[in-house]
Amino acid sequence: MRREPLYAWQAGRDVLVLACPSSRGGFYLVAVGPADGGADLVVVHECPAARARRPCWHLAAALKSYLAWRPGARYGGVRTSLRPVRLNPSWKQVPVPGAPQTRTEVVA
Ligand SMILES: [Zn+2]
Repeated sequence: MRREPLYAWQAGRDVLVLACPSSRGGFYLVAVGPADGGADLVVVHECPAARARRPCWHLAAALKSYLAWRPGARYGGVRTSLRPVRLNPSWKQVPVPGAPQTRTEVVA
């Protein structure tokens, strides 16, 4: 299993949602966006590791994609929130920021 988000959606002006594949099949949705008027970034998701308060790869992968999506983003810190994110049909699907196919498109 590749530890990279496979799909991405824009869920608000500055909110990115990433679908991270699960080793058990399916996906965990991870939302990243500004909190506190933009002072911090908050990463929202729920997975078994996060529930057990263990580190998981979703946090770093989501931040990496977010900073590729919003390279000018400035924030003081990163918070996490343990809540499941559910797919919303109003979100707009976008290429996964920073993924190899996105870089190829930019170069070409
Ligand atoms: Zn996780």
